[in-house]
Amino acid sequence: MPDYVIKATAGNGQIRVFAATTQNIVEIAHAIHQTSPVVTQALGRLLTAGSLMGSMMKNADEMITLKIAGDGPVKGLLVTADANGNVKGYPYVNDLNDSYASPMSVSEAIGEGSLNILKDIGLKEPYVGYSPLISGEIAEDLTYYYAQSEQIPTSVSLGVLLNKDGSVKQAGGFIIQLMPDTDDATIDALEKALASTPSMTKLLDEGKSPENILAELFKNIGVKISEIEEARFFCDCSRNRVIKALTAIGAADLIDIIADQEIIEIKCDFCQEKYHFTPEQLQSIVDLIQNEIKKGE
Ligand SMILES: [Zn+2]
Repeated sequence: MPDYVIKATAGNGQIRVFAATTQNIVEIAHAIHQTSPVVTQALGRLLTAGSLMGSMMKNADEMITLKIAGDGPVKGLLVTADANGNVKGYPYVNDLNDSYASPMSVSEAIGEGSLNILKDIGLKEPYVGYSPLISGEIAEDLTYYYAQSEQIPTSVSLGVLLNKDGSVKQAGGFIIQLMPDTDDATIDALEKALASTPSMTKLLDEGKSPENILAELFKNIGVKISEIEEARFFCDCSRNRVIKALTAIGAADLIDIIADQEIIEIKCDFCQEKYHFTPEQLQSIVDLIQNEIKKGE
């Protein structure tokens, strides 16, 4: 079954709800990046958050980047998502030599640091939000980010459940936001419902789908699903994009690289795809740059 994100409203439209199941996305990331258990969990939580936050964007061409930098052994994580269900991401360090039997906590792996959210909504400058990490467990950090940086009361829950061999058994999460002017009775009812809801990991372990979780969570408030969208791990890198990036380095630096007379390898951080360039191919990029310069003169 493919991964998906549910968009819903609750409490007569006073609450926005997004819930996702992301087992495939997180397992693909685990396989691509060969992550050890705690890194799979950390990256899986951030990928799940990325899927949810991507689906929260209004326009099809918007992009969101979630970046965590920490002083723990994983050092950081980066996730990018679009508004069409595509998400990709990577850890700065993929293998911490931890095991399923003796797990390290996600907050120990990340340590103290910061969360940056970059939203490219088609304006000249992207929107950049920042908050310090308050727990390093990611869901709490995002809840804090929303309160502090965007002033939106939000509840974020994320979970990744592993098999004994380190593969991903289940993954998912939800983001719930209060609209401005939500009445007190609805806020009270939501707070009670959230307080009595088990952790996302426990819900996933019980085999609950996003639909099950929302039905349970909003049984006294009323929830209305408006849309269900497929989500997937997808990297849009290509040889053409790598050539563009090489062009941006500039002719002088490329000529230095060509002087070594070696085939260079450029690896995509997000999907580990490798792109090779011979000195002759690099020279043709230099020729293109120099022709462009001539045209400009
Ligand atoms: Zn790629």
